[in-house]
Amino acid sequence: MRPQVLIIGCGFGGLEAARALRTTDVDITLVDKTNHHLFQPLLYQVATAGLSAPSIAAPIRHLFRGQRNVTTLMGEIVAIDATARTATLKDGATLRWDHLIVAAGATHSYFGRDDWAEHAPGLKTLSDAFEIRRRVLLAFEAAEREANGEDDPAQRAALLQFVVVGGGPTGVELAGTFAEIARHTLPGEFRRIDPRQARVLLVEGSPRVLQAMPESLSERAREQLGALGVDVRLNARVTGIDAEGLDITTPTGPERLHSRCVVWAAGVAASPLGRALADATGCTLDRAGRVVVEPDLSVKGQANIQVIGDLAAAQSHAPGQPPKPVPGVSPGAKQMGRHAAANIQRRLRGEATQAFRYRDYGNLATIGRHSAVVDLGTPAGSLRFSGLPAWLFWLFAHVYFLIGFRNRFVVLVDWAWAYWTHDRNARVVAGAGLSEASPARDAQACPRRRAG
Ligand SMILES: Cc1cc2nc3c(=O)[nH]c(=O)nc-3n(C[C@H](O)[C@H](O)[C@H](O)COP(=O)(O)OP(=O)(O)OC[C@H]3O[C@@H](n4cnc5c(N)ncnc54)[C@H](O)[C@@H]3O)c2cc1C
Repeated sequence: MRPQVLIIGCGFGGLEAARALRTTDVDITLVDKTNHHLFQPLLYQVATAGLSAPSIAAPIRHLFRGQRNVTTLMGEIVAIDATARTATLKDGATLRWDHLIVAAGATHSYFGRDDWAEHAPGLKTLSDAFEIRRRVLLAFEAAEREANGEDDPAQRAALLQFVVVGGGPTGVELAGTFAEIARHTLPGEFRRIDPRQARVLLVEGSPRVLQAMPESLSERAREQLGALGVDVRLNARVTGIDAEGLDITTPTGPERLHSRCVVWAAGVAASPLGRALADATGCTLDRAGRVVVEPDLSVKGQANIQVIGDLAAAQSHAPGQPPKPVPGVSPGAKQMGRHAAANIQRRLRGEATQAFRYRDYGNLATIGRHSAVVDLGTPAGSLRFSGLPAWLFWLFAHVYFLIGFRNRFVVLVDWAWAYWTHDRNARVVAGAGLSEASPARDAQACPRRRAG
């Protein structure tokens, strides 16, 4: 029997690890609870109707059709037994492993207020993106219905007020694109409302957006958001979210924001599989639930288990420098995936494993149709730029890293079309109309008509 490698999760980390073991004499089982690898950096484009799902997701089975040492299974791992070297799927089936790579990623954190999730969906999966898209588009539909003879301006204003919580890259991207939809995509398509009257607010708890970027680029991002018509509220902490809107506290006092479409882009928590691994091995978790790993990415006392990507609280070990935390970004996950595979190869050869070193190539974030900020690490120092050149750089970097030629081609064509026409052509909301899609919200949106 060849050594059995089990990889849990086919995101950026798991995919890269499996690929790096292409020519290694092992049998790999790649398990994911979905049937697709998802390019999360463009998920906001699906949520804002700019791209359709297949443009940014690829069936895992198809990706590995030519790699004979990979078996792809769809299922959710719920427990790990480090002594018996097995992993248990939700249906009770078990999978044996000699080497385990856990790459289950992260999920949303509502900072202990999980009841907010129902009113403010986060963006992590395709289902999340569909739900956000549905809420945004149906808010405009409901506002058009509300704006009849017995018009209630307050209801309509709440329907046309969109709030994004969290000023990181995802929040900034979402807020900028919502503003563009309202100002450029939808005008001319409605008869009773003017979509340009929609308000988009970005609520951020700290003094600036894009905290991971240098201060000058945060300021440029804030200016570019302002130019798009986004109302950026800094130092504003959310204290409550319900079906009618949210409560925030700002330096000037508490404020109520009426909104029927709130999106959560504020907190990240590790996959619950981190807790399962801690129960199985006694390993330490950090405050976000990430597994604290050894320098070589293994779990303390478990040389055959490695944790990578967003689920790992890992440090970069560059020679002659103090260890630095690895950020939760796709290059980090991909590099860890390749490193974990190389460590398995080393162990199979009877060699010692090596410490992980992260190579940071920089940070990018897009703000709208032709605005972005870029902070690149170069041998000569930091290279920072913003505006149209940054947007073009962002665009080509994302197309380059997309999986599959067809996806790259389709995304380029869709973006070129959207650039010239302002159109966003993935605006189909499947199935239900307003009432069926969200009866509770619809009832709130149109109480008099419903009662009558
Ligand atoms: C909206 C959004 C935008 C982002 N934008 C950027 C960006 O612009 N640039 C950037 O560098 N990074 C970005 N990131 C972060 C980046 O996507 C992550 O750092 C990266 O995906 C982490 O890779 P991973 O392999 O650890 O986890 P993931 O890519 O999240 O993959 C985890 C996989 O594990 C599977 N899984 C989870 N639990 C189980 C289980 N119990 N059993 C089986 N399978 C399981 C999931 O289905 C998933 O396929 C963004 C993230 C999001 C959510």
